Amino acid sequence: MVLDNIQNGNFSRSCRMDRLVCMPTSDGKLSVKSFWNKVRLASPERPLAKWLWNWMLPSKIGFFTWQVLCGSIPTDDAIMAMGIPFVSKCLCFCSPVRETTTHCMVVGGMASKVWDFFLRLVDIELVPTQDVRCRILFWHRHAHGRGHGRVINGLLPSFIVWELWKERNNRKHGERALSASHIVEVICNWVREIPFLPPFRKLPNPRDSIVPQFFGITQKVAPSSSDPVFLWPPFTAVKLNIDGACKGNSGEGGGGDIIRDNNGSVIVAFAKYYGAGTNNIAEVRALRDGLRLCANLGLVGPIVNSNSEVILRCVSKRRYSLWKGWYWFQEIMDHIESTRPLLSFTFREGNKAADWLANLAYDSASDIYFSGEMSLPLDLRWITSADALGLPVLRN
Ligand SMILES: [Zn+2]
Repeated sequence: MVLDNIQNGNFSRSCRMDRLVCMPTSDGKLSVKSFWNKVRLASPERPLAKWLWNWMLPSKIGFFTWQVLCGSIPTDDAIMAMGIPFVSKCLCFCSPVRETTTHCMVVGGMASKVWDFFLRLVDIELVPTQDVRCRILFWHRHAHGRGHGRVINGLLPSFIVWELWKERNNRKHGERALSASHIVEVICNWVREIPFLPPFRKLPNPRDSIVPQFFGITQKVAPSSSDPVFLWPPFTAVKLNIDGACKGNSGEGGGGDIIRDNNGSVIVAFAKYYGAGTNNIAEVRALRDGLRLCANLGLVGPIVNSNSEVILRCVSKRRYSLWKGWYWFQEIMDHIESTRPLLSFTFREGNKAADWLANLAYDSASDIYFSGEMSLPLDLRWITSADALGLPVLRN
């Protein structure tokens, strides 16, 4: 099997030293995290954990909610249960009763008013349960929605129990008591301070926007991108379009590269068959082959276009995360050093010729070279002449 791998080309001669790789990680480095993930016995994921241990929730509040769920906050009934007898009276302004966790957090005069306000806002019908644990779990299961609204729904119960407990303690220590509406306002301030993620690509539907709008949170959408067109290089530069693709992701793959001059006429184009692999690997190999060809032809400073954001990001960060493609990536970095290409992203529509060649490679399962405009198959010439005219490609 190792021999097969070598013969299939997942190997290239180089003067570099061999290096050890750790199979379970994407970068081949052995880390404590990867080791732990390998030996641990993970239990199924709980939806509750997602909202309790959420980076958008201050950890002190997450921990407190967890304490509430475990029934371990020091209300009077909890202390009495330890065998310490004393007289207990709740601190809300209703008819006084013994203080219990349920009274303090759910059914007491102060707690019920606060919960009622937010229940009406997020529009969930609670089962008539009196238990704080059930209430939080039920809330998490039923408060759906999308975008910012979803985050708010997930984090709200934690803010509510946190503020209720703070108010209970303030009253216990003789501070001035706040009204329920005042507590609601403090909880709203927590929500407004949630560090939401950057803008969404798509606005959620109006129903999902009601809750964020109530808190005065606007959800922006990223600006739309410009029209996709093929832009040919200025002056004497050449342009290299590259594309790598696989049948399915993880099947037979191929790469397509095409080099054109500043008039848009084809200097050289090729389709190269890569055998089994993934899209990501095919993209890396196509980039390596294209840059290698530029170097061999003595073309300096080519403008390189790819429609793979992943590969471009790897190159700009000088870091490649799949150790399987490590050798190819190293060669890419060497070529970048010597030929000084200008790499940039293009839309699929601007990369049609390379895409066509990559498809040809895996369909024909062979390597095919074309030299000059006249040698191209008719289908490909259609694409290159449309590109040369700079015709825009309109999307539906
Ligand atoms: Zn009370």
